[in-house]
Amino acid sequence: MNLIKACEISIFYMSSFVIFNNYEIPRENLLNKLGDVTQEGEYITPFKDPNKRHGAALGALSMGRVNITSMCEFYGSKAITIAIRYGAVRKQFGPDDKEEIPILEYQSHQYRLLPYLAAVYVLRIFSMKLIEVQYQFAIDSYLGVNKELLAELGPELHALSSASKPVSGWTMRDTIQECRETCGGHGYLKVSGIGDIRNDNDANLTYEGENHILIQQTSNWLLKLWPLILKGETISSPLKSVNFLSHGLRILQQPNIQISSVADACSPQNIISMYQWLVVYLLKRTYNKFQNDLNNGKDAFAARNNNQVFYAKNLSIAFIQHFMLQVMYEKISATSDPEIRSVLEKLLSLYGLFSLEKQHLTLFYQGAILPGSDFVTLIQEAILKLCSEVKNDAVSLVDVVAPPDFILKSVLGLSDGQVYRNLESAIFRSPYAMSRPKWWQDIKTNVQSKL
Ligand SMILES: Cc1cc2nc3c(=O)[nH]c(=O)nc-3n(C[C@H](O)[C@H](O)[C@H](O)COP(=O)(O)OP(=O)(O)OC[C@H]3O[C@@H](n4cnc5c(N)ncnc54)[C@H](O)[C@@H]3O)c2cc1C
Repeated sequence: MNLIKACEISIFYMSSFVIFNNYEIPRENLLNKLGDVTQEGEYITPFKDPNKRHGAALGALSMGRVNITSMCEFYGSKAITIAIRYGAVRKQFGPDDKEEIPILEYQSHQYRLLPYLAAVYVLRIFSMKLIEVQYQFAIDSYLGVNKELLAELGPELHALSSASKPVSGWTMRDTIQECRETCGGHGYLKVSGIGDIRNDNDANLTYEGENHILIQQTSNWLLKLWPLILKGETISSPLKSVNFLSHGLRILQQPNIQISSVADACSPQNIISMYQWLVVYLLKRTYNKFQNDLNNGKDAFAARNNNQVFYAKNLSIAFIQHFMLQVMYEKISATSDPEIRSVLEKLLSLYGLFSLEKQHLTLFYQGAILPGSDFVTLIQEAILKLCSEVKNDAVSLVDVVAPPDFILKSVLGLSDGQVYRNLESAIFRSPYAMSRPKWWQDIKTNVQSKL
C-alpha cells in the first residue's frame, strides 16, 4: 500500500478544491510503468540499473515542459504578429516636408521588435524538434521498446526542457511586453488582444516547475560533465546537445571565433562558436566556484544556492541557447532553397547576437578572449544591419507564423492590415458604444438626491 504521509495537498482550480489528508492510495491506482509494488509489498522494476530507471522517469516528466516551451512561443508569435502588422501601417512623423513614415521604418522600432521575431522563429523550429522527440519518447515508453536509448534520452530531455521552458517563457514575456509598448496607446486597448496574451503567458513562468528553480536541473546535469572533459573523455548524448564538449579544453584555449568585420559577426558559424566558448567557460567557472566553496567549508546545499547568480543560471541559459541555434542551423543546412536559407540564417544570427549582447557580452571580457579589438562595435553594427535587412521581409515572416485571424483576435493585427477600419468597427460593435451605460441611472439618481 502506498500511503501519503502527513500530507495535505490542496489543488485549487477554478472555484473548487480537493484536499487529501492521510489518504491511502489503492495499489491498483499506482502509476506503475517503470516500477510497481507486488501484493506482498515488494518493489519491482523492469530496469536493472537504477540510473536508467531514473532517466526513463525523468523523460516522462518532460512532456509538460516541452509543451510549455512551445506554448510560450505561440503566445509570442501572436504578439509579434500584432505589433509588426501594426508597425507597418501606423505612420508617425517623417522627414521635413515629406509624408509621415510607418513606425517600422525607424531603427529603434526595428531593434525593439525584430530580434523577437527572430526569437519566435528559433523557438518555433526548436520546439517542433523537441516535441517530435518527446512524443516518440512517450510512444516508445508506452510500447516498452528502445529501453536502452530511452534511459539515455530521458536525462537529456529533462535537462533540455528544464532550460528551454524558462528561456522560452522569459523571452516571450519580454517579446509580449515590447509588443504592447510598440503599439503605443492602442496596444493598451482590450481589443488589441495583447493584454490577454500577456496574462495567458504569465503562468507559464511558474507552473510545471518555477523557472528559477527548474533551470537549476540543467546546470546540475552539465556540472557532472566537467571532470570528464578534464580527463579528455568523449562526451555524447542521443540528441548531441553536449557532443561539442568533447573538445571543451580546445574550445577554451583556442576558440574558433574570428571577427574582424560586420560580415564575420553575422556568420552563423562564428555565433555558434561564441556560444560554445560561453558554455565551456561558464561550466568551468561554475564548477570551480562550487568546488572552492566546498573546500572552504560550505556544505553542498549552501554551495549550490550561492552559485546560481552569474554562474549556474547563466550556464543553463547559454547552453540551451546554443542548442536552439544548433537545431536551427541543422534545419537551415537541410533547406535547399537559397532564398529561404538566407532569410533563416539572418534570423538565426539576429537572435544569437541579440541574446549575446543582452545577456553574455561581459563574459568575453571576464574570460579575456576578445576576438578582435572592435568586437563589441562589430556585434552592435551586425545587429542593426540584420534588423534593417529582416525589416524588408518582416510582414511576410509574421504571415508565416501567425495564427488565423479568428484565433489572433486583435483589431490591430488582422491579416487585411486595415487597422483603422477594424478599430472603428470594433468600437461601433461594442454593446454600449451608442448607449448610456447601465449604471448611468444609479449615478443620475445619486447626484439628484444630493442636489
Ligand atoms: C496558474 C497556475 C496553475 C497551476 N496549476 C497547478 C496544477 O495543476 N497542479 C499543481 O500541482 N500545481 C499547480 N500550480 C502550482 C505551481 O506548480 C507552483 O506554484 C510552482 O511550482 C511554484 O511553487 P510555489 O507556488 O510553492 O512557489 P515557491 O516555491 O514558494 O516560490 C516562490 C518564489 O521563491 C523562489 N524560490 C523558492 N525556492 C527557492 C530556492 N531554493 N532558491 C531560490 N529561489 C527560490 C521561487 O523562484 C519563486 O520565485 C499552478 C500554479 C499556477 C500559477
